[in-house]
Amino acid sequence: MSGSFKERLSFDSATGALFDQSRRYMMIRPDALMGIFKRLPPDQRMAALQAFAESIAEQGGDSARAYVDMGGTGSKLLDVIAATAPELGWGIWQFNIGMDRFTLSVRNSPFAAGFGPSDHPVCAPIIGMFGAVTSIVAGKPMQAREIACAAMGAEYCQFESTPRASTP
Ligand SMILES: [Zn+2]
Repeated sequence: MSGSFKERLSFDSATGALFDQSRRYMMIRPDALMGIFKRLPPDQRMAALQAFAESIAEQGGDSARAYVDMGGTGSKLLDVIAATAPELGWGIWQFNIGMDRFTLSVRNSPFAAGFGPSDHPVCAPIIGMFGAVTSIVAGKPMQAREIACAAMGAEYCQFESTPRASTP
């Protein structure tokens, strides 16, 4: 890895853009972002959160593959992700690797904080990123889900990722 995310992040004032190498970033208030989902009726909200997770799995998975190319293979990739998440403002991440089951604890999720009290988990982007990186580490498709969310009153958010059931 060539430095931390924070060290790689560059601000191009001429074009008004933030980059990690070729990957453009932007800053947005979590309450503004999560307000999208709060505004939607429940069925549309769940569909939108699902789409958010899938989009992050695609784009975040692309970032993760770039980290692999920079030398972060296997469980080292999880170390890179755990080091990068706080620099993105995505809270404090802690992975546990088990037999065909990975778990992730996230303290101070900006998505839970941005959404506020909820009767369902709201940290869809973390589900997407966790699913993508565990699929890379496991070398097979993994399905991530959020099993406890701070927005629902949990002390911190918890996720698990298990092998995706193969379709017959
Ligand atoms: Zn959460």
